[in-house]
Amino acid sequence: MKCTQGGSFSKGELQRFGNIELSPSAGVLNYGQGLFEGLKAYRKDDTVLLFRPEENALRMRQGAERMCMPSPTVDQFVEAVKETVLANKRWVPPPGKGSLYIRPLLMGSGAVLGLAPAPEYTFLIYVSPVGNYFKEGVAPINLIVEHELHRATPGGTGGVKTIGNYAVVLKAQSAAKAKGYSDVLYLDCVHKKYLEEVSSCNIFVVKGNIISTPAIKGTILPGITRKSIIDVARSQGFQVEERLVEVDELLDADEVFCTGTAVVVSPVGSITYKGKRVSYGLDGFGAVSKQLYSVLTRLQMGLIDDKMNWTVELS
Ligand code: PMP
Repeated sequence: MKCTQGGSFSKGELQRFGNIELSPSAGVLNYGQGLFEGLKAYRKDDTVLLFRPEENALRMRQGAERMCMPSPTVDQFVEAVKETVLANKRWVPPPGKGSLYIRPLLMGSGAVLGLAPAPEYTFLIYVSPVGNYFKEGVAPINLIVEHELHRATPGGTGGVKTIGNYAVVLKAQSAAKAKGYSDVLYLDCVHKKYLEEVSSCNIFVVKGNIISTPAIKGTILPGITRKSIIDVARSQGFQVEERLVEVDELLDADEVFCTGTAVVVSPVGSITYKGKRVSYGLDGFGAVSKQLYSVLTRLQMGLIDDKMNWTVELS
């Protein structure tokens, strides 16, 4: 779908996956005017289930406002996702074998030389079958806390899903992976002691019956899995706190886990901070992350009653 600055998107059309043509002076290539989303479709018998697609639409709209871009309406976004998934239904893996990852992308595709919002925008969606995100599968991941490089600053764009947020994490993430870690855990850049998030997922710390996660305050992506896990955890009788979580709290946590569309719920096996390694003594899920993973994934795959009304069934 295309749209001019200040205009609105008209209905798009299905096209075979392939390269797209852009001007060398497209806004997205020169000034980073780009946003994306990520959601998954699961196969259930003859139907396909989407998980809360309107939440992705709303997050893209908030991001578009921050990035001076027009965006599709919630209905346009959700309808386009449904149409794309149905056209690719044969690529949705069988139950238990993965999911179809859906990547909506919004970019300033119009040409612009001096710094300004692009005159034209393109919204597109592509899909790919996927398995587990981390090479560990659902085995515990090992994180390293980064205390020099930051992912987001107050007043910046850390709270929206803009493409540049992913370029800034590549350096620390590559260094971490080269040393054998699964990913990087970022701290706030002002006090350098409060947890923020991992390169592409949110973080939760468990102590007894209390599950804490960093509050959303502009430098953390408001994850849809995070929001869903908070509701699931409360419905399971846990106390959930959204607050400032200090890095030192990792030392005496019972369990730590990450959430995201790609990572679903991933247990953390160890965290290394300033050369010290804290291990949670797990060789699989901890009891709490296991319970939450089980409820969330059974809900997403249509294996339990969807009391929350979160899934959208396509046939
Ligand atoms: N934080 C970041 C930086 C992410 O890229 C993602 C993945 N979208 C998340 C958190 C988790 O968000 P969600 O649960 O909506 O996938």
